[in-house]
Amino acid sequence: MSVPEIFGCDVFNEAVMSERLPADVYASLKKTIEEGKHLDLSLANSVAAVMKDWAVEKGATHYTHWFQPMTGITAEKHDGFISPSGDGHVIMEFSGKELIKGETDASSFPSGGLRATFEARGYTAWDPTSFVFIKNNIMCIPTAFCSYNGEALDKRTPLLRSMEAINKSAMRVLKILGSDATHVTPNVGAEQEYFLIDREMYSKRKDLIYTARSLYGAKPPKTQELDDHYFGTIKTRVSAYMDDLDEQLWKLGVLAKTKHNEVAPCQHELAPIFTAANVATDHNQLTMEVMKRTARRHGFKCLLTEKPFEYVNGSGKHVNWSLSTNTGENLLKPGKTPLENAQFLLFLSAVIKGVNKYQDLLRVSVASANNDHRLGASEAPPAIISIFLGDELTAVLNSIVKDEEYHSAGKQNMEVGVDILPNFAKDTTDRNRTSPFAFTGNKFEFRSPGSKLSVAGPTTFINTIVADVLDEFADELEGAKELRPAIYKLIKKTIEENGEIIFNGDGYSQGWVEEAKRRGLKNYPTTPDALPHFGDKKNIELFARHNVYSETEIRSRIEILFEEYIKTIKIEARTMLDMANKDIFPAVSECVRDYAKTAKLVSDCGMSAEFEMHMVKKLTELTSKMHKAYEKLEKVTEHLEKHINEGEAIAIYCKDTVIPAMKKLRAPADEIESLVGKKYWPYPTYGELLFYV
Ligand code: ADP
Ligand code: MG
Repeated sequence: MSVPEIFGCDVFNEAVMSERLPADVYASLKKTIEEGKHLDLSLANSVAAVMKDWAVEKGATHYTHWFQPMTGITAEKHDGFISPSGDGHVIMEFSGKELIKGETDASSFPSGGLRATFEARGYTAWDPTSFVFIKNNIMCIPTAFCSYNGEALDKRTPLLRSMEAINKSAMRVLKILGSDATHVTPNVGAEQEYFLIDREMYSKRKDLIYTARSLYGAKPPKTQELDDHYFGTIKTRVSAYMDDLDEQLWKLGVLAKTKHNEVAPCQHELAPIFTAANVATDHNQLTMEVMKRTARRHGFKCLLTEKPFEYVNGSGKHVNWSLSTNTGENLLKPGKTPLENAQFLLFLSAVIKGVNKYQDLLRVSVASANNDHRLGASEAPPAIISIFLGDELTAVLNSIVKDEEYHSAGKQNMEVGVDILPNFAKDTTDRNRTSPFAFTGNKFEFRSPGSKLSVAGPTTFINTIVADVLDEFADELEGAKELRPAIYKLIKKTIEENGEIIFNGDGYSQGWVEEAKRRGLKNYPTTPDALPHFGDKKNIELFARHNVYSETEIRSRIEILFEEYIKTIKIEARTMLDMANKDIFPAVSECVRDYAKTAKLVSDCGMSAEFEMHMVKKLTELTSKMHKAYEKLEKVTEHLEKHINEGEAIAIYCKDTVIPAMKKLRAPADEIESLVGKKYWPYPTYGELLFYV
């Protein structure tokens, strides 16, 4: 197998297009894509015919409009290419109309009230900037999904709108700076963390099966304290899995690049090479899907939940974000000329101001029941949003604020916006792992997103936030008499007014929580704290200004996110009750019976059964404690189910009442687990799950 040969072999990419499409068709398609226009039907017909032949040659029998509903997964409905030819045979058919538009009965996708169920159908439209590909003999057409009123029912549509917004705003600024670029694209590289566990063990735990998270489990003798897994040698079995995964992703044109072990035992990471935000989103969705599918073949279960195990790190997804021009420039890369530096500092300041002004939105963009277990748990960035710039860049910005010259030992001096910026070597900036939003040399890395989250949401938010500030900058600079001093003044003012968001220290420390409070930064520890702010006036106005979400679209998303939060917790609570009844109580009972029997036999022999009696006593006490907690959780779960549709109010009830009740049940159960003999215990322990060989 040669990588260049297989790379993209299942993708209808530019190479295939230019080879197979008639020259004029190819040229028109390219132009349509570049200009972001809609495909007209005659062009679509020519493309569809060639596309279908290519797909059928590759063994495809069906096609699907592959889209990303608001649940964050991807959805597809398969239609066959077959069409009766009238003589009892079939021919393979696919028209331009079918390529550009599909209709889908999607009444069971959550729409947050956007689409009444009697108007079940939405329509889907090909996003030609993302290539068509073949997966499991199905030709997949990356697609946007809207209601008949044009409201976005998916994650792609707002993402594409936000990409357009930032293109417009960034171009305004670049024009002022005299750039010859004509298009700006936000780029994303999504580092994906995941757990691989043995499938057979997995299948013995209902919590993992129903919730992809362990809801019980005593602390094993060893966890991650030796750091011996991080970047360690990869197990043969895991290595075979990773090779297989890479190969499949390459065939799909996904630029899977690095793979390594992560901090927690059984935890791994895959990082792709970055690409345009919408393509990166598709590729990340595909990566997650292929990860899960491939695991099955290798006897693994791949867990993408944010916090599958207590006592070891959870999994995140780092969203690396930058802006580039069609002239090949990275707008977040420090430059070599005075103008390039002014440009860099201007874009950097725009991000700083945007993040400061819309901290709440960044927190909202990563809010989910499972991610709440990660954020602020000294393993992932805190729920407080701040920016890490590194000492060097912070010193540069400080010198601007103080009107001082910047001197850096061993580095070039610089007069800000006029002369040379030091070269921010990546290693001086990429040290702080505790920061939610870190500048890493030529991009920002947003580290709060959870592992199974679609990158569409956070990316849409970042694009819009930054676009908004760039518009403000353009307004200000367009009227300037002299450009250089105006830029300098603007950067200075922006840093002065937004300095509180910059924090280079330890984000895990309690001291930071207090310090952040003093600085007036927002702290929304949980999803119910954060989510309502999506609908704050300033945020509705922001998204409306850039035509990214209408107020109705925002309200529907808040409703869906609350629903998802509540349902997740409901299922977790019910699973705990089920496991207590079916697994744990019978196991401990059997164990107690054996100790009691032994105690009796030992006493009959005239000996004191001190140990056995102790165990009977201890286990019985714990069991009745557990039983009380069980009854409490049962009661609060009933209440939850009765009020399941009450949105925010019941979400708060979940946070304040259900989750604490779950914790109360888990504690005695875990203690019992550590006391009961192996032969009684009904499911694999943490030790067995995390340290399989
Ligand atoms: P790290 O910073 O984690 O040591 P890298 O810098 O190599 O590692 O890349 C981490 C991720 O960031 C990769 O997915 C990579 O493609 C992505 N990345 C690198 N440069 C950019 C950029 N300019 N814009 C967006 N993502 C980028
Ligand atoms: Mg990284």
